[in-house]
Amino acid sequence: MNEFVDVLVIGAGPSGCVSSCYLHNNGIKVKVVEKTKFPRLVVGESLIPRVMDHFEEAGLLDALQQMNFEKKSGARFIRGKEVCTFDFSQNYTKGWTWTWQVPRADFDQAMAKEVVRKGIDLAFETEVIAIEFNGKNSITTVKDKNGNLKKIHAKFVIDSSGYGRVLPRLLNLDSPSGLAPHSAIFTHIKDVNRPKNDIISFDIIQTEVWLWVIQFSNGNSSVGIVGSTEFINSLSTTSTTEALRKAILMSNHYKDRFGTLDFLFKPIKLENYSRTVKKMYGDGFALTGNSTEFLDPVFSSGVAFATESGMLAAKLALKELSGETVDWENDYSHYMQQGIETFRTYVEEWYTGNLQTLFFHQPENPEVKKKICSVLAGYVWDKSNPFVKKHKNIIKNMAHMLNMDKK
Ligand code: FAD
Repeated sequence: MNEFVDVLVIGAGPSGCVSSCYLHNNGIKVKVVEKTKFPRLVVGESLIPRVMDHFEEAGLLDALQQMNFEKKSGARFIRGKEVCTFDFSQNYTKGWTWTWQVPRADFDQAMAKEVVRKGIDLAFETEVIAIEFNGKNSITTVKDKNGNLKKIHAKFVIDSSGYGRVLPRLLNLDSPSGLAPHSAIFTHIKDVNRPKNDIISFDIIQTEVWLWVIQFSNGNSSVGIVGSTEFINSLSTTSTTEALRKAILMSNHYKDRFGTLDFLFKPIKLENYSRTVKKMYGDGFALTGNSTEFLDPVFSSGVAFATESGMLAAKLALKELSGETVDWENDYSHYMQQGIETFRTYVEEWYTGNLQTLFFHQPENPEVKKKICSVLAGYVWDKSNPFVKKHKNIIKNMAHMLNMDKK
């Protein structure tokens, strides 16, 4: 069977939903194919304010607002008795000052429902298995849950397949991440001991090892441990339940709250999660979200990059379909790399400990904090912020000065 569309979007995660809505709103015939049936479990529960711009522009915000997800107005980092809290209302860059923390199964399902309600053709349990390009036009072979094959002819393909990494695999675009190998184990817990006004927190167990606690409005919390793959494997090689239990007991801050509670599902291990690609686009296609690059969960940048790239790829595809010439290298790849590189520095400097030196230094410097807060909110394209523009050196240099002062 053959089907003809303008744009085929692979994957109905945040990236694919934002892309498909933008194109549909602009009169493009778009089809989304999604391998699984929603709701499906996926990691990536703490959002950052920049995503709200994308949900608003895609026309998804109202539907998400009705879900009453837990509001996130900042984040707290804990190191022993030291605490550093960021408040997004204190951002240097003007923009959204809050977002949500969400069980992704519910969040992604709400988005997908809205995509369908808008009249977009979204086929669940439909997996891309092959693709052939003829210039910019492509024929994608998909297989449904009954094993039936279909060929989808498209003028443009947006690959938002996340860790499925459909086009990176089929077109040999995968590339090793330059980041040190890190892994994570997480689950959800019925948070019966949650104190009032508790906020999302990251508890540093060792410089390279941290525990996340993300509260949901349904009364559950997500708890996860992140560290070098060597450390995560040292917790237990046979049982993720045993490994996560051990990790929780290492946290002086959280061991009493979560130490004896049941896990709502067998903890999931995500090993060596960082990913990258040789290139983010080609003739007739663009890669978005986790299908391109995933750095690290520490600053919750994953979904924001997924929606930023999903929105931008959709805008550029629309231009191209309207007959305009698009400079994908400059307008897509370079633009995205600017944001990714900024966050990459923050991730690297987190694990060297330099960023932690800045976070926990007393007395706090409110001007520095505001600017770092903007980066953590996802405003990583604002070059008037020195913590964006000079990201490569500013953290390292400031940490060095603070450490010298201590001596
Ligand atoms: P996804 O949300 O993964 O969606 C891709 C979709 O494509 C899936 O539904 C999949 O079923 C579908 N698909 C796959 N293969 C095929 C195929 N062959 N055919 C059709 N469909 C297909 N990000 C944050 O923002 N905040 C966090 O707190 C956070 N924590 C994280 C913690 C860990 C340990 C890790 C590893 C990541 C974390 N992330 C976080 C990153 C986040 O999970 C991703 O960046 C985000 O989900 C990417 O969205 P996406 O739309 O690109 O992909």
